[in-house]
Amino acid sequence: MSDRHILTAVAWPYANGPRHIGHVSGFGVPSDVFSRYHRMVGDRVLMVSGTDEHGTPITVAADAEGVIPREIADRNNRVIVGDLQSLGLSYDLFTRTTTVNHAQIAQEIFLGLLKNGYVFPKTTLGAISPSTGRTLPDRYIEGTCPICGYDGARGDQCDNCGNQLDPVDLINPKSRINGETPKFVEEEHYFLDLPAFTRALGDWLDSRRGWRPNVLNFAKNLLTDLKPRSYTRDIDWGVPVPLEGWRDRPDKRIYVWFDAVVGYLSASIEWARRSGDDDAWRQWWQTPDSDAYYFMGKDNIVFHAEIWPAQLLGYDGEGDKGGTPGSLGRLNLPTEVVSSEFLTMEGRKFSSSRQVVIYVRDFLARYDADALRYFIAAAGPESQDTDFTWAEFLRRNNDELVAGWGNLVNRTVSMAAKNVGAVPTPGELTDADRALLSATQGAFGPVGELLSRNRQKAAATEAMRVVGEANKYLSDQAPWKLKEDPARRDTVLHTALQAVSDCNALLTPFLPHSAQKVHELLGGTGVWSPAPRVEEVTDLDDGSPYPIITGDYDEGQAVWASRPLPPGTPLSPPTPVFKKLDESIVAEELARLEDGQ
Ligand SMILES: [Zn+2]
Repeated sequence: MSDRHILTAVAWPYANGPRHIGHVSGFGVPSDVFSRYHRMVGDRVLMVSGTDEHGTPITVAADAEGVIPREIADRNNRVIVGDLQSLGLSYDLFTRTTTVNHAQIAQEIFLGLLKNGYVFPKTTLGAISPSTGRTLPDRYIEGTCPICGYDGARGDQCDNCGNQLDPVDLINPKSRINGETPKFVEEEHYFLDLPAFTRALGDWLDSRRGWRPNVLNFAKNLLTDLKPRSYTRDIDWGVPVPLEGWRDRPDKRIYVWFDAVVGYLSASIEWARRSGDDDAWRQWWQTPDSDAYYFMGKDNIVFHAEIWPAQLLGYDGEGDKGGTPGSLGRLNLPTEVVSSEFLTMEGRKFSSSRQVVIYVRDFLARYDADALRYFIAAAGPESQDTDFTWAEFLRRNNDELVAGWGNLVNRTVSMAAKNVGAVPTPGELTDADRALLSATQGAFGPVGELLSRNRQKAAATEAMRVVGEANKYLSDQAPWKLKEDPARRDTVLHTALQAVSDCNALLTPFLPHSAQKVHELLGGTGVWSPAPRVEEVTDLDDGSPYPIITGDYDEGQAVWASRPLPPGTPLSPPTPVFKKLDESIVAEELARLEDGQ
């Protein structure tokens, strides 16, 4: 194993409902492909995330059902954990933001920022109900969005244009409880002094190399107009503000976004505490040569390229006001913010409310996880908005996975099993044999280089090009015609099996489930590509139960190199690795979409 430590920080799915395939194409599959590749290289990967469970939408859902917010969060946390595990996402820890550990770390970051002067109190206008005199939480205020003119904007956010709002910004604000016009009175809130980080954020962005140009340009543009942002909100569901006179107030909490991004750190600390070495997280957060890659969809760039780095800089004492690191010590900034563009569905924007959606769970009930993973990696929204169509999904599955890769595995293993019953012993190699082996062995360099730079689409294409070469070799050499020349037949089959073994390693980051099957078809035993598991645990501090995703990823035998396939390894007749899909699924799925099922 190398000494290189890589933190894979995966965006936190919001727990107000199940996640659809657009979500997992942004944060899920790309982060797992990246982590699996780096583990195969021998790097020490820590992949963390969890469900983001505070904030207004969850309280709105709870109000609608007449339950407490925790009940909504518990239910969706469990659904999301199951879905991400089924997709094979190899989190070292997938946790949640409602743990005691998370609240403590979120409060520690707030206090560190306050100590260094980057969080300051400011009197602003807050809404109260004129009839009761009580604070009116942001979500209970509705009005016209000052940015897009949408009529149903909430006090904290406009669902139409997606902009974050303050209640006082709304045109014609009304209480959703009784329709009265709220009264705005002076109240104290805490603000993050973003302008104090303009220089430090600019220096950090200028030192970045290899970012996707659209992400870097977007992040740099944000710096032209930084304004202080409210760190606390009028809401009763979230992390309490850790100050005298605030801690016990039911109506003031840390703003959900400012607590959610701290999750990368709190999850790393929870992982360390569960591992039995409380300080183990420091290797990924505090050593100068460790790297941190953050994965998300483009709607989250602001929080990962501006807000979270500003929180870290302020905690470290590295903004314009100086300061000293908080009690955890100095924390590393992101190496790269890896943001994907949006996936649309049959030409339309995903929308749970308008039923333009397919949830991960429903998808995986009908199709294999690797088929979805392959589509996302090979044809997903890596650097431009991309449309998911069932016709294209069918084509990728049937032409590329089944007829391309699956057929190569099947033909090769079944001929060797039938004729030899084992990996044959090769004779002298011809130029054609050597050319194929040098193509498959030579692919580890370029495909690995693309994966390390998160050019996953190009990496998948290159790996599949090599599969194509192996298929062509097999057709050209036609071992089924070599009955009279068993020595040559065995050499061809050995060469083809070695190519299959190499291609399987190249495709393992994308297709971990089928890679395990191919490993076994080639006579391998034990774990090749480890699968994540769901474990029921209790909160380390208050004992409440919840499920996590974790795994023993060091057990995997997969390495990023060609490994010689030993002659004599017994082989059995193969079963198909991928399922061919019937053309009729396209019409069926389109009908489901129309019916909103
Ligand atoms: Zn709007």
